[in-house]
Amino acid sequence: MKNLHTRCCIAGGGPAGMMLGYLLARAGVDVVVLEKHGDFLRDFRGDTIHPSTLQVMQELGLLDAFLARPHNKARVLRVSIGGVEATVADFSRLRIPCKFIAMMPQWEFLDFLRDQAVLLPNFQLLLNAEAASLIEDSGRVAGVHVQTGDGLLVVTADLVIGADGRRSAIRAAAGLQVRDLGAPIDVLWMRLPVAPGDPTESGGRIDNGHFLAMIHRGDYWQCAYVIPKGGIAAIRAQGLEQFRTELTSVAPLFADRVQALQTWDDIKLLTVTVDRLERWWKPGLLCIGDAAHAMSPVGGVGVNLAIQDAVAAANVLAIPLMDRAVTADEITTLLAQVERRRSLPTRLTQAAQVAIQNRLLAPVLTGDRRQPLAMPWPVKLLNRWPALRALPAYAVGIGVRPEHVRSPKAN
Ligand SMILES: Cc1cc2nc3c(=O)[nH]c(=O)nc-3n(C[C@H](O)[C@H](O)[C@H](O)COP(=O)(O)OP(=O)(O)OC[C@H]3O[C@@H](n4cnc5c(N)ncnc54)[C@H](O)[C@@H]3O)c2cc1C
Repeated sequence: MKNLHTRCCIAGGGPAGMMLGYLLARAGVDVVVLEKHGDFLRDFRGDTIHPSTLQVMQELGLLDAFLARPHNKARVLRVSIGGVEATVADFSRLRIPCKFIAMMPQWEFLDFLRDQAVLLPNFQLLLNAEAASLIEDSGRVAGVHVQTGDGLLVVTADLVIGADGRRSAIRAAAGLQVRDLGAPIDVLWMRLPVAPGDPTESGGRIDNGHFLAMIHRGDYWQCAYVIPKGGIAAIRAQGLEQFRTELTSVAPLFADRVQALQTWDDIKLLTVTVDRLERWWKPGLLCIGDAAHAMSPVGGVGVNLAIQDAVAAANVLAIPLMDRAVTADEITTLLAQVERRRSLPTRLTQAAQVAIQNRLLAPVLTGDRRQPLAMPWPVKLLNRWPALRALPAYAVGIGVRPEHVRSPKAN
């Protein structure tokens, strides 16, 4: 058994954990990030980097290097509803430096953060390191037992961060209460080839019984087909050929290539969860990102909220953590501040996601497939008055209470 002591131990090397690890190390805080996988190469994750995150990159002086990584730019969001095209958001109308969503595979984003972070002397990333249980000392979380390829590692820390995603082992081990907001949908993810003459923009196709989101990845389409919660068994029972036919009926463009889906292994089920912790912290421990609030894929905002949490946490905690005279108990008194700062954006965003899931997606999925879907009046308004498209662009791209980097950079 090996031992390691650090000022801050972060469980989870996703967007929230890697960004907070970078920001704290940049300020001169000793930080260890634990990631249970050996790399960041996992498919079908949140892949949309919104203007709020691009703004953070700019504030860190990393924007140009970041945008040198492979990505596509989505300047508008278009949908097809009942076969009629409409533009529902236009980022070029926002008064911000980056007027687009960068569509970038999450592994590129995380590799980029890792490459920047490892340049900092205070940053340590342990791969194949799974946080297994918490160490408690006199009622305070004082570290983590970590399962590694080389056996058990004991990491003691003045602050532990749970950034281990929506199935967080840390929040479960800490006994933090979770409030489930419910989700009537699940999502099937798949890749389909791009063909000459395809549109180059990402978008959505909605009709009675169907909702398909299509992300243009340059050399392939990443598609998300929304199904009723628990509906996968019924879809499988109808057979793969019927599934291909349904895809083609909502996106005729794919008629010549749905055969690329050869087995059910080519179609990944992602169970949608929307929840949040009643309290994000306990002495010695703070949860952020999906570990504090699992987000629905609606709006593709989960990565960006995770980043905003990391920026807010660093703004509150970096200076006290840098000061060795500040005790672990004194740091605990600051954790509620981070929750207070991020609670409102989280609640409002989740409320909007739940409303869209329940009022728009669920009725569409159970609607009569023989009838074309009528365009809802808000979409008609957006289509008719282009200036209004700035409103959804702001809501999705920037969101409630955007964070700015205030944590310092060590000399
Ligand atoms: C179907 C679906 C589609 C989505 N699409 C989008 C989208 O397009 N855009 C968007 O912005 N968001 C999207 N999201 C949401 C987004 O993926 C998440 O909100 C975001 O990734 C949360 O970041 P995080 O760092 O908090 O957690 P995660 O990204 O879940 O990262 C947690 C990390 O912790 C690691 N880990 C887990 N347990 C342990 C442990 N015990 N010890 C050590 N490491 C551990 C994991 O391997 C992982 O790397 C989607 C979500 C779903 C379910």
